[in-house]
Amino acid sequence: MRGITAFSVLAALWLASTGIAAPSLTVVCGVDEMWCAAMKTAYEAKSGHEISVTRKSTGDILNQIRAEKAAPTVDVWWGGTGDTHLQAGSENLLEPYQPAHERDMLPWAQNFFAMSGGRSAGIYAGALGFAYNADLLRELKLPAPTCWMDLTDTAYRGRIQSGNPNSSGTAFTTLATLVQLFGEDEAFRYLAALNRNIERYTPSGSAPIKAAARGETLIGISFMHDAVTQKQAGFPLVIVAPCEGTGYEIGAVSIVKGAKNIEEAKRFVDFALSPEGQGTGAASGQNQVPSNAKSSLPLAAPDISMIKMVDYDFATFGSPEERSRLLRRFDAEIAATN
Ligand code: PLP
Repeated sequence: MRGITAFSVLAALWLASTGIAAPSLTVVCGVDEMWCAAMKTAYEAKSGHEISVTRKSTGDILNQIRAEKAAPTVDVWWGGTGDTHLQAGSENLLEPYQPAHERDMLPWAQNFFAMSGGRSAGIYAGALGFAYNADLLRELKLPAPTCWMDLTDTAYRGRIQSGNPNSSGTAFTTLATLVQLFGEDEAFRYLAALNRNIERYTPSGSAPIKAAARGETLIGISFMHDAVTQKQAGFPLVIVAPCEGTGYEIGAVSIVKGAKNIEEAKRFVDFALSPEGQGTGAASGQNQVPSNAKSSLPLAAPDISMIKMVDYDFATFGSPEERSRLLRRFDAEIAATN
């Protein structure tokens, strides 16, 4: 810790001596790179202050915030799956804050805020699913999958990508969804069968769908809104809401406990929950459902009311014990045999 503190002091002195101003806010961003960049531009234009925004996968952000607990370098964690934010909250790594727009939030976002003890606010929601490359499927003369169970068919051996749930919030949502759909032991039997078809577990959750879009793999497991974005970019994806039902995420924003730029962090959170801030999603090609009732819905956003959805238990799957236990079991029984 002394090392980090000494380094921060030296860095500040160096910046002062070069005349380069330190950013007024440091944000780690859990959504798509395009949205991270659009949000940085929009917030800087609004505030007149330069900020630093770095994209990371959700589990990696949690690990960074844990590691820096004694001397945080991050002020705001914006985006990424909410159960991981809840876990950080229950480890006392987040600063409670009542955002200006909280009363305009849709009921699922208000419930999420209450569940977090006022430490994390919901910024968007989106359903999990998978998508396949229609051109490649036709070329390979393979059947079209429509259910989770179809993905274990030997026809898809080595032709599916999914994220690694240790680093990817998308992939942890997949793991937790399967446990809620099938029960834990059955879910692990399913994952073992699926594992035989998994070409690789990617560190980031959106990599599988980008690979399927480009025909580098046949099927990618991902959030459906990520697949819509790729499809809108012209890639031949067919998006599937699995027949058994599926889970969903609430993406969140939180202020890190001990944030150095706390007032700017609060202004950023207010912006992230405003219709203007949420509009940066659709403007950068994203298709999540925004949490502010006054925000406009991206035109191509999947209609989550039409999808068979599990009653996702954020409290259980956002608890440190449950998340760590499931990840240990995944590593021991599934990843170790891939
Ligand atoms: N990209 C989008 C569009 C998302 O909605 C989310 C989840 O909040 C992520 C990425 C999460 O990324 P990862 O699975 O790499 O943690």
